[in-house]
Amino acid sequence: MKSRNHARFFLFALMSVVFCASVRFQLLVAADAATAAIEKMPRPQRLDAYTKAANASGLSAADRQVFIQGLARHAKDVSPQYQNTPLPWNTATWMSLLRRGWEAAPTDAGIGLALARLHIDARQYSAALPIVTALDKVHPDNHEVNAFQVFCQTTKDGAAVAPPAGPLKVFPLHFVVLTKNPAAHRVATREQCRKECDILNATFRTREGKELARFVFKGFSSYDDIKDSASALIRSGDATAPFDTDAVARDFNACKDRKVRDPEAINVYVFDSYNPQAKFGDLTSHGKRNSNRPYVLLDWERLDNKVQNAEAHEMGHAFGLEHVGVPGAVGKTSSNIMTSASENFGSGGLRDLGFSEAQAAVILFHAQRTYERLGLGK
Ligand SMILES: [Zn+2]
Repeated sequence: MKSRNHARFFLFALMSVVFCASVRFQLLVAADAATAAIEKMPRPQRLDAYTKAANASGLSAADRQVFIQGLARHAKDVSPQYQNTPLPWNTATWMSLLRRGWEAAPTDAGIGLALARLHIDARQYSAALPIVTALDKVHPDNHEVNAFQVFCQTTKDGAAVAPPAGPLKVFPLHFVVLTKNPAAHRVATREQCRKECDILNATFRTREGKELARFVFKGFSSYDDIKDSASALIRSGDATAPFDTDAVARDFNACKDRKVRDPEAINVYVFDSYNPQAKFGDLTSHGKRNSNRPYVLLDWERLDNKVQNAEAHEMGHAFGLEHVGVPGAVGKTSSNIMTSASENFGSGGLRDLGFSEAQAAVILFHAQRTYERLGLGK
């Protein structure tokens, strides 16, 4: 009861402040305060809240735009393609709001990319093309803008992802056992690493099962082969400090030891991940695009595709993809390969559903660039 009185007083005080202020100031305060309140909600609820706020009558154009930007921030990470059950939202409503926001600000990459992604995953490529073409004029280096533009120029409306003309790009994989853990050495054999290529070829696919790239075994360095290397990268094998993605990239890029880093391959490192709670029971793995010199660090306990499709997930990062969310997912929910609990929509799920059209567009774009950067196909 006491807190209700307190709330009434607060509301009264707030209304007095708003009443005294100018009309413009009122609206700005209202939009900012509403946005701050919405951002405190559980992430799935923010989508409804922004949709309602943006559809409210009597809003100024500037305030509506603020709410549409909020909608885009969260809508960009979900898609009907990322799950087997229907999304609990009407994406047609989102699309009409996002279009309104994009028409008001055709260079807003947050709104434009969220709208383009929904169109692409609905296979409406000709609707997405003018959006990314407008974005390209002011964001010429945005990799998603570039990827979507190429894809929408070359794919017919309604068509599923088709591999580009010509043979699939083939990527050699070089495996390196970085961890000194003897249990890992028993699992991470040369034979198992050959099998990892088969796993990737079976799982690095679209929802319809189309391959986007092919992987072949090229080389293998055991821990004994590399343990005396001068490369600083070997300290990542059993590190207990928090994972520093930039420091690892620096060590990788500076590495001249071909046993540790094959510069004409995608390098896959088998390591032992650590966190203070789970210690070396931690399973965290990593994939990095690294300006199209990609590499992957797989925790040894994830080899043989034991947990959540780690091979395809990390390779997805290596080809430019970020995490997505499936609202309300639990451990056994079918979900897109790139789903992660870190997006705060739900569990990462099974990660058993292949890439969507928009994700495939990004992968194919980086497949071409990575192929050139690694000097393959010469
Ligand atoms: Zn990830």
